[in-house]
Amino acid sequence: MSVSEPVDPFAGDPYDPARALDDGDEATVPMDPADREQVLADLVDLEVFQALLEPAGLLGLTVDCGPCQQLHCVGWDLLRSNLRALLDAGTSPVHEPAFSPDPARYVSWDYARGYADASMLERD
Ligand SMILES: [Zn+2]
Repeated sequence: MSVSEPVDPFAGDPYDPARALDDGDEATVPMDPADREQVLADLVDLEVFQALLEPAGLLGLTVDCGPCQQLHCVGWDLLRSNLRALLDAGTSPVHEPAFSPDPARYVSWDYARGYADASMLERD
């Protein structure tokens, strides 16, 4: 829990209008098949990136976080579980950045993709 989280103006208010949204609503909205495909492809990419980059000492990827408007450094395991949660629930439950991460040990998704592409070429 971040101290920079905005305070819920209805905290402690029994008539919190947001409560109605939670009421017994266990049904999840099925994911758009195209989105699902994209997440599956991301999971495959993630495996490749981790296999290539983890031995080089990298701990994960930086993720552009919409709600926070900043980059988070996210470890391999959390990246994977976030993608799996997306598949299961249609939403990613957390943006849980690593605790005081070393930004030098995280790279962007695009960087990882470029690195992976380059190392595929080297193999030929
Ligand atoms: Zn965030």
